[in-house]
Amino acid sequence: MTRYSNLLSPLDLGFTTLKNRVLMGSMHTGLEETKDWNRVAEFYAERARGEVALMVTGGIGPNLEGSVLPGASMMVTEEDVTNHRVVTQRVQDAGGKIAMQILHAGRYAYGPKCVAPSPVKSPISPFPPTELDEEGIEKQISNIANAAVLAQQAGYDGVEIMGSEGYFLNQFLVTHTNKRTDRWGGSYENRMRLPIEVVRRTREAVGTNFIIIYRLSMIDLVPNGSTYDEVVQLAKEIEKAGATIINTGIGWHEARIPTIATSVPRRAFAWVTKKLMGQVSIPVITSNRINTPDVAEAVLAEGCADMVSLARPMLADPHFVAKAMRDEAGQIAPCIACNQACLDHTFGGKLTSCLVNPRACHETELVVEPAATAKKVAIVGAGPAGLSSAITCAERGHAVTVFERSGEIGGQLNMAKQIPGKEEFWGFVDWYREMMDTHDIDVRLNTEATVEALEGFDEVIVATGVTPRDPDIPGQDGANVLSYIDVLRDKAPIGKSVAVIGAGGIGFDVSEFLVHEGDSPTESLPVWMEEWGVADPESHRGGLAPEGPQPHAAARNVTLLQRKAEKHGKRLGKTTGWIHRAALKMKDVNFVGGVNYERIDETGLHVSFGEARENLQVIEADSIVMCAGQVPERSLADALEAKGMNVHVIGGADVAAELDAKRAIDQGVRLAATL
Ligand code: NAP
Ligand code: SF4
Repeated sequence: MTRYSNLLSPLDLGFTTLKNRVLMGSMHTGLEETKDWNRVAEFYAERARGEVALMVTGGIGPNLEGSVLPGASMMVTEEDVTNHRVVTQRVQDAGGKIAMQILHAGRYAYGPKCVAPSPVKSPISPFPPTELDEEGIEKQISNIANAAVLAQQAGYDGVEIMGSEGYFLNQFLVTHTNKRTDRWGGSYENRMRLPIEVVRRTREAVGTNFIIIYRLSMIDLVPNGSTYDEVVQLAKEIEKAGATIINTGIGWHEARIPTIATSVPRRAFAWVTKKLMGQVSIPVITSNRINTPDVAEAVLAEGCADMVSLARPMLADPHFVAKAMRDEAGQIAPCIACNQACLDHTFGGKLTSCLVNPRACHETELVVEPAATAKKVAIVGAGPAGLSSAITCAERGHAVTVFERSGEIGGQLNMAKQIPGKEEFWGFVDWYREMMDTHDIDVRLNTEATVEALEGFDEVIVATGVTPRDPDIPGQDGANVLSYIDVLRDKAPIGKSVAVIGAGGIGFDVSEFLVHEGDSPTESLPVWMEEWGVADPESHRGGLAPEGPQPHAAARNVTLLQRKAEKHGKRLGKTTGWIHRAALKMKDVNFVGGVNYERIDETGLHVSFGEARENLQVIEADSIVMCAGQVPERSLADALEAKGMNVHVIGGADVAAELDAKRAIDQGVRLAATL
């Protein structure tokens, strides 16, 4: 008897059956744009082998004007059909099912040819859209239906029509973006005509035995979004028009409320999908921040949906479902919702991967195979670089010993997990612990690795991490000065007013830690909703609370300083930096940039501004916390090299500048794949 009886039960769609309740949600990985169709096929086939019931591809444009970017993948020609057939064939040979997402971006398309119901420029694109005339609208409908027909010819099991997240079809629904006065605008009946017509014409074109998923925005999270009555009305019409399944979309891309970041509580929006249950008779899928089989099972058991959509968790672990089937949930590499290697890459024009699993989207290039010769490998340092390297070495058949000076594994992840909003890091460290056991890795805690102890190994990997940079400020030896390690690891007492030196990732994290007290909002959905101003869409249009965000009072008065004159947080993740900034602003954190640190005394931190060191000011503070970056901890590496030993140095011990766990893990896994 499985613990996941709901999650693993089949879903009968009439003409076909899905083997369980897990959909891999659409992700724009950039793989299709590489035009390496073998690589695309292997990415999806790996997940099909992992037993996911149905996958949805990244968004594929139905025409040039609707594509997200010039050069983005489209489904318009016979050649496209031939290319995509490589993917569908490989997936189906692996026992999987796959649907192609048809994505028309409307005013979100990043190009001068973009079109929309009305010429209302989006705040997230520099290109004003051209208003479509009647003929233009007909072209869009027929192009979308045609893309579905071509997808069917390419062997897909279905299509997903993207109608949420503020894309083209969504733009017709609300008056903010649809100012038309013809039959496509004005009343709600007119505004919803286009999505319905698209589904009706697509069904007509593909016949009955083909899955059509419609992704419907259930809570827009933007001003003047749809009312919940409108959402339900649309869902019923979409069903009548011939959709097989309704998938949930949460929030427009321009929404100023986080919807998938680490600080968003798990399953934060399942209650929204639940409202639709019973209103339509086709299956309904829920989505967003569902990242473990237990969370997914609970969502289904509570009747929030018929299926769950997991997207990023399928990057972190393609075998999520297979491991749940084997009751090995503890071995599922967790998606920590950081966006660092997935969405940040997508928006930075880079190929997607995963911080936790660097093989994601690199399946054909980063191959982990049994080693020709089993070796004795020593790894010094049990941070993310060392641990990921250890797992890959063990998977390849090497005998691995990990030396760790402290009493626990996880390295800097143990500090990250203390930050309110970063609770996912607890599970990340737990997963490493489980993998050490699974692979029988000899982990020696509280053990300093000496040169002598390492001499008997075939390979030595040094992953000793970093030490804090010394900013060398006069007075920094005072009792009121702490390092981020004192604050996060040692829980040193801290005063009510604090100056934080350095506004990098750690300075932001420490500030977040200092302004909170009590339970983290990420652990309490009602508190989180209040803090960000999310309301029940049944009472408030678009799910926005009329009173806006209601943050709890800050626990401390924090000033966050940097020497650079640029905007604070500019170098944080593309898709999460704004959230960190907004979260600190809500707590009245004072951002001060362009400073020189003059000295510290018992009154606080003395700073000046500009090259001329003018405008001397004192930032009055009970405590000053140093977050001035980090430098490599290379003492062991240097000692080993001095002895003539051949060592591999990875992670922060190699290069500390701009270090983050993504680079450290990637480097560790790539090295281990070659030993
Ligand atoms: P960091 O991002 O390099 O930031 C260091 C900060 O210290 C900068 O604000 C820098 O700004 C300041 N600084 C540098 N040299 C200084 C000096 N000599 N005196 C005074 N200030 C100095 O490093 P970090 O904050 O230590 O973070 C380490 C790594 O972990 C980073 O790569 C970071 O991205 C990653 N991390 C990421 C997250 C995340 O949320 N993704 C969270 C935590 C950490 P100025 O030079 O302008 O003063
Ligand atoms: Fe999840 Fe982060 Fe991996 Fe993206 S990079 S899939 S958010 S763990």
